[in-house]
Amino acid sequence: MRFAIVDTELVEARSGLLATCPGCEQPVVAKCGSKKVHHWAHKGSRICDDWWEPETEWHRAWKNNFPTEWQEIFLPDIKTGEKHIADTRTPDGLVIEFQHSHIDPKERMIRENFYKTMVWVVDGTRLKRDFPRFLKAKDGFRQVLKPGNFHVEFVEDCFPAAWLESTVPVIFDFLGHGLISDDLSIRQPLYCLFPIRVGWYAVVAEIPRKAFIKSVTSGEWLPRVKSYMEELKQINRERDAEMKKQQRRGSGRIFFRPVRYVRYVRRRRF
Ligand SMILES: [Zn+2]
Repeated sequence: MRFAIVDTELVEARSGLLATCPGCEQPVVAKCGSKKVHHWAHKGSRICDDWWEPETEWHRAWKNNFPTEWQEIFLPDIKTGEKHIADTRTPDGLVIEFQHSHIDPKERMIRENFYKTMVWVVDGTRLKRDFPRFLKAKDGFRQVLKPGNFHVEFVEDCFPAAWLESTVPVIFDFLGHGLISDDLSIRQPLYCLFPIRVGWYAVVAEIPRKAFIKSVTSGEWLPRVKSYMEELKQINRERDAEMKKQQRRGSGRIFFRPVRYVRYVRRRRF
């Protein structure tokens, strides 16, 4: 954790300080070594939120884009009696979770069901192959509706499988934190995978980093996503109606997903 309570104030870890966890009110100690980012740790190995992952510089840099009072918000889980720490939660209730490690899709679903109004920001530099794979797939993006909005036919070639069936928007950040040496300009934009398909196409938007942060900070993110999703649902409704009409007419035009029959190279998993 970044913050713990010392004399009723939320403070960052400093060597030698003792503090109290704002979630479980148990004592925590400052960990200020050179390997990990400075943080508070519960005494013993158990942390009160078992969803918590050790933070990296990448996590901290992202959180720092938002006011400190929005960071590390403890939210009670009525079903289990536990509390979970939202990385960032805006006053309008949007939770942003920054995810560096791999997450099992079942676990991901549990968290999405808990936070509901949320967006994931995923570290796209965790595996070396993630960005080259994305770049290759990006050549096949089809721009639709407006600039920066794409329909993607084979989304499984684009992003890690664990995120493809997410029920909330997932933002991929390929910039990482200071460890990448190739041309950074192409890693600057964020790519948002929306939790909807238009026909068989996945929907992806390229979003400038600053624009995302600004839209979250100003409260515009939620209404914008909502209206964009409505727009896409409407396209699906019209598409369905058109398909039914054609089926009734027996015109025989069937909407098939194109299939690639041959894959010459089996890709390595890791
Ligand atoms: Zn605790």
